[in-house]
Amino acid sequence: MEELVEYSNNNIEQFQKLILKWTTDNLKIYPWREKRTPYKVLISEYFLTRTKAHQVEPIFIKFIEKYPSLESFLELETEIARSIMNSLGLHKRVEMLKKLSEQLQQNYINKIPDNFKDLKSLMGIGKYSANAILCFGFNNKRPLLDANLIRLYKRVLNVTSKTKTPKTDKYLWEFSEKLLPEKDYVIFNYGILDFCIEICTPKNPKCENCLLNQMCNYYNSKN
Ligand code: SF4
Repeated sequence: MEELVEYSNNNIEQFQKLILKWTTDNLKIYPWREKRTPYKVLISEYFLTRTKAHQVEPIFIKFIEKYPSLESFLELETEIARSIMNSLGLHKRVEMLKKLSEQLQQNYINKIPDNFKDLKSLMGIGKYSANAILCFGFNNKRPLLDANLIRLYKRVLNVTSKTKTPKTDKYLWEFSEKLLPEKDYVIFNYGILDFCIEICTPKNPKCENCLLNQMCNYYNSKN
């Protein structure tokens, strides 16, 4: 728990401000971010798991052309979905999407659930994806936590997990929630995801050009 009280609100406000500033010119545009709907966000989460966004983009566009709405998705034909997704080696996810469409029909009267518990009950949806769907699909203030964010928190604020499985560490999840601004949390969440891919990369982070470098523990420890 000590990490949660170690940093002042000033640190957190500064972090929020700088990330939001960075997003003004740098946020990535992806088809699942434009005209967001719970359906498009849900499908994108299935595609993006362990797959890079630029690889997913053309496949996602084709998939949404064929299945533009939740209604059409509920009629998913496995062979057609497979032909769209095979080129990315996503064929295992076709079975998951088929199962998802069945679950939505059988358990959720053809709707996408708008709460954490029910989203987590869906095939292949874990804590990260359930929160991402609530945030990006339903505009709920929900935290995210993945390996990139764990690295960012450690580097900038020296906040680390004391458990062997940081991705499930409730203190890191709480910290991630604490970082969310009152408003603009959707943009902020997109921002920290993009920032970790563009600037604070695992190897050779672009520290000299980083807006956060003055407040970053990692950078200051080397300079
Ligand atoms: Fe990451 Fe470097 Fe920026 Fe710190 S200064 S946040 S380590 S890119």
